[in-house]
Amino acid sequence: MKIAVLPGDGIGTEIVTEALKVLKALDLNLTLETALVGGAAFEAHGHPLPESTLQLAMASDAVLFGAVGDWKYDTLDRPLRPEQAILGLRKNLGLFANFRPAICYKQLTDASSLKPELVAGLDILIIRELTGDIYFGQPRGRRIATDGHFPGSEEAFDTMRYSRPEIERIAHIAFQAAQKRSKRVTSVDKANVLETFQFWKDIVSEVGKQYPDVALDHMYVDNAAMQLVKAPKKFDVVVTGNMFGDILSDAAAMLTGSIGMLPSASLNAKNQGLYEPSHGSAPDIAGQGVANPLATILSAAMMLRFSLNQPEAASRIEAAVDTVLSQGLRTPDIYSPGTNKVSTREMGDAVVKALK
Ligand code: NAD
Repeated sequence: MKIAVLPGDGIGTEIVTEALKVLKALDLNLTLETALVGGAAFEAHGHPLPESTLQLAMASDAVLFGAVGDWKYDTLDRPLRPEQAILGLRKNLGLFANFRPAICYKQLTDASSLKPELVAGLDILIIRELTGDIYFGQPRGRRIATDGHFPGSEEAFDTMRYSRPEIERIAHIAFQAAQKRSKRVTSVDKANVLETFQFWKDIVSEVGKQYPDVALDHMYVDNAAMQLVKAPKKFDVVVTGNMFGDILSDAAAMLTGSIGMLPSASLNAKNQGLYEPSHGSAPDIAGQGVANPLATILSAAMMLRFSLNQPEAASRIEAAVDTVLSQGLRTPDIYSPGTNKVSTREMGDAVVKALK
């Protein structure tokens, strides 16, 4: 089992170091190969996703990714900016299914912006289609003038589109994920207004007939946004398009308290995946040893479960994270009075200890 390890920039290197410690402690037969990506790769090779890094990622079973970006690259031409590396990896690996679990650990309910009783025990899985929808329809690639306006034009438009196979494959992923959980899928659409999402709804329903053990319901995106903050525990697996998923998954993320706790996975049809925390490179705290490594450690657990077929090892990591939280260990982002503030490294060490 070969893993491409791409720490990236900012806190990326610090948090990936801790995730690697945890993976190594499991004594699995893993080959870990590290490469540069993002700003670090730009500095060394003049490109955020050098060919050697891309080839390594494509030849691996999974990619463990830290984060990329720094304000100092904001003036670079867009294709050279660190964030382009993620888009390049998504495109070249064909990563069409994005999994964003939003789990609120009972030990952290006070950190949520909602009342503890609304989020205690929250465990939602948002599955976002990642390579279609309005983000990839015409006029993708239109050049915008440097002042941010469309030269000589009084309108702008984007095209929302989905093809049948694109909807079918993400629907299958959602139903299969639900079979391993509480067997409920909510498909989020805007079928009352948009043809694309009437099509989406019809096809998800069709695919659903192949999964009679899974209950399917449909919800309009505006209602889903409302329900997410009113009664989030109503949801289990949520499947939706690229744009709605982008927005809803960030809203769901905040229900859990800290972005430092949230893992993610992006998968292709061969179950090859890119695993990364939901947050960015946090340049404001980089190098201080205060970043929360748990999102990355939990991303490594998702990698073991989804791409490397090691569900028991994944569960061990998740249980170890639960243990360290119960021990009261907190990086500053999740600290509250009465708990014990620890550094990035101390948190990683504690997870390793809890594994054993
Ligand atoms: P960010 O997620 O990096 O940081 C937002 C806030 O959350 C900051 O205050 C940061 O300190 C805090 N934070 C993030 N992760 C944390 C962690 N593990 N522990 C504790 N606190 C944490 O978002 P941003 O500040 O908007 O972006 C910073 C850079 O990251 C930008 O260059 C942006 O483009 C890039 N970015 C990269 C990715 C990615 O690599 N996938 C995703 C989002 C943003």
